[in-house]
Amino acid sequence: MKISTSLQAKLKNSGRMLKALIDNLNGMVYCCLYDAEWTLVFIAGGCKELTGYESAALLLNREISLEAVTHPEDRAWVRQVIDAAVLAHEPFVAEYRIINADGEICWVSERGCPVYNDLDEIEAIEGFLQNITPRKLSEIAAHNAEERYRSIFENAIEGIYQTSPDGHYLNFNPALANIYGYESALDLVRSISDINRQLYVQAGKRDEFVALMGAHGRVINFEAEVHRKDGEIIWISENAREVRDQNGALMFYEGTVEDITARKHHEQEIEYQATHDALTGLPNRTLLTDRLQQYLGIADRYSNKVAVAFIDLDQFKLINDSMGHHAGDELLKIMATRLEDCVRESDTVVRLGGDEFVLLLTGLNQIEDISDSMQRVLSAVAEPCAIEGRDFVVSCSIGISIYPDDGRDTTTLLRYADSAMYKSKQSGRNNYQFYTDELNQRLMERLDMEYRLRQALEGEEFLLHYQPKLDFASGKICGAEALIRWQPRDGNMISPASFIPIAEENGFIEDIGRWVLRTACCQAVELNRQLARKLPIAVNVSPRQFRQAGLVSMVRTALEESGLDPACLELEITESSLVHDTGSFIKTLYELKALGVKLAIDDFGTGYSSMAYLKDFPVDRLKIDQVFVSHLETEPKNIAILKAIIALGHSFGMKVIAEGVETAYQQAFLHGIGCNELQGFYFSKPIPMNAFLALLAEDRVPTPSEMQLSA
Ligand code: C2E
Ligand code: MG
Ligand code: MG
Repeated sequence: MKISTSLQAKLKNSGRMLKALIDNLNGMVYCCLYDAEWTLVFIAGGCKELTGYESAALLLNREISLEAVTHPEDRAWVRQVIDAAVLAHEPFVAEYRIINADGEICWVSERGCPVYNDLDEIEAIEGFLQNITPRKLSEIAAHNAEERYRSIFENAIEGIYQTSPDGHYLNFNPALANIYGYESALDLVRSISDINRQLYVQAGKRDEFVALMGAHGRVINFEAEVHRKDGEIIWISENAREVRDQNGALMFYEGTVEDITARKHHEQEIEYQATHDALTGLPNRTLLTDRLQQYLGIADRYSNKVAVAFIDLDQFKLINDSMGHHAGDELLKIMATRLEDCVRESDTVVRLGGDEFVLLLTGLNQIEDISDSMQRVLSAVAEPCAIEGRDFVVSCSIGISIYPDDGRDTTTLLRYADSAMYKSKQSGRNNYQFYTDELNQRLMERLDMEYRLRQALEGEEFLLHYQPKLDFASGKICGAEALIRWQPRDGNMISPASFIPIAEENGFIEDIGRWVLRTACCQAVELNRQLARKLPIAVNVSPRQFRQAGLVSMVRTALEESGLDPACLELEITESSLVHDTGSFIKTLYELKALGVKLAIDDFGTGYSSMAYLKDFPVDRLKIDQVFVSHLETEPKNIAILKAIIALGHSFGMKVIAEGVETAYQQAFLHGIGCNELQGFYFSKPIPMNAFLALLAEDRVPTPSEMQLSA
């Protein structure tokens, strides 16, 4: 090994200069050759402290070389660093491991620079080696700790997050994105900007979260439904806390999220099993009281009624005993489905056990409303059931109690419905009975009326009376209104006011209306023939008739078949026909008008027609409702209304007729304010056609005895 003389001279100088300095530094100054061993040619300072070897042992590789001291794993890269520095004529820094004399690993920091000869050839490396083991170990410990936590964060199964108080994600782990169905954390961040609106299903859930945080500084097992990216709804449970800065200001929330959908579904399943009948899937007795209680609250809020209907199958025991349980079960399942089909979505069908069911019917305004459902139940149950290749027919007995009429609590209502059901069994089964006899009576009457109404058409029990109309200007009869009368064979005449509304409800009005129209047209033709002049006849068209699809063609047919001049037919339409659909109302008016008939708005002033629409109606007459006329003497306020209606009608080019005129005062008054026509008992009651003809022949007002002819 040869050290050049120039280097020896340099060493002498530097040695002198650095000695004092190095003695005070915690490290080792060195100069080594740029060779395979990093042969140390100069060492000053703490060689022993740093490497555990005396400097003599390292100098000129007497016992060990610097290369050998360097940790085998670091040798190559350290050399690369130094090679690069040599090439670039630059100093270098490297932190690497050495193995000291005790065989321990120490961390050193080496700062060095290449030394060149006059020919710019590399001669040696000079530098400073320092022990950095304590710093390095703590750095490594910190790094490892961070790695460990990051690993927990990244690999946790629970979602972990930090959110700002205003609902933005600050930080979260991949599990959270995964729970919410996002491909990656980035996907989640891009998609959710408002946790409150986009994540929680239930409105106000985030507010609840924030309020709990405000009150307790944390939330525990906060359960909520959230939207996943794919639209699926899952259940989560959150545990979270507030994080505040040194001044106590809220910085963010941090917490964990667990997907508890499976547990929730399991709980729901258990709850479903506890509250539903296993055979039919219907709610069971446990749910009955809850539901009923709930319905009573709703009925209070909307001031309507709830019906509790106990249903017992009449022949179940027989079938069950003779055909076996399997057939019995089948029958119950079929009945459950049929009962559900008989009620509305908002109602409830419960299986109490055995062959007993309960219906809870809500939103009833009057008890008559349930007669339809009960009829449906009776006939649905009575449909034949095919079980195991055989047809069975069963019936049922129904008992009904009504809230609030019969009782105000669930126990009473259920007890009363049960006892009404026994009443129904006693009265021959296959029927329904109310707990209260008065209700039974009311319903009986109604059913009786419906039944007889159906017979009346075939039995030719209907007839028409005509009420003349008087024209103020000429003082003569200018037409008549045809009004239906029902004269049952074995009873008193029944007023249309009591049967028309029922016929409206059950749809029978369509048949009755057709009969009235046909009869009135034929009688009008006969009337015109006898009079040898044309007199218009008015026919009432009820709201349901008006909405009936075939109305226009029905009118056309009646006109064609009778040969009546369309101008002699006037249709009276009530304002309430308009309520449903103004567009189609006006369209039908125009179609009727196109047939050539006249149109009148009946009972004007009591319906809902908006003044704005009136101008669009192709109507010839307004008939002022009786209420404005009948109390004219005692209700002076009606004067203003009457005047306004007359002015309105006239301004649209319509004639105005007042009905229900009963006194001379009313007649004179209406005449005085410009009303065109009148109709009322003062002039004539509705009378049979022959009496009307006689009246016309004499062109006089009827006598009181003629007036008695009318009901
Ligand atoms: P409406 O069309 O407003 O008929 C006028 C009603 O007022 C008739 O009652 C008539 O008898 C009665 N009336 C006439 N003048 C007076 C009076 O001076 N004083 C009093 N208090 N009443 C008077 P009616 O015949 O009992 O008919 C009642 C309602 O039944 C009719 O009201 C009409 O809406 C309906 N109606 C009658 N016949 C038919 C029909 O053939 N088809 C349809 N759809 N409804 C009809
Ligand atoms: Mg009328
Ligand atoms: Mg009227």
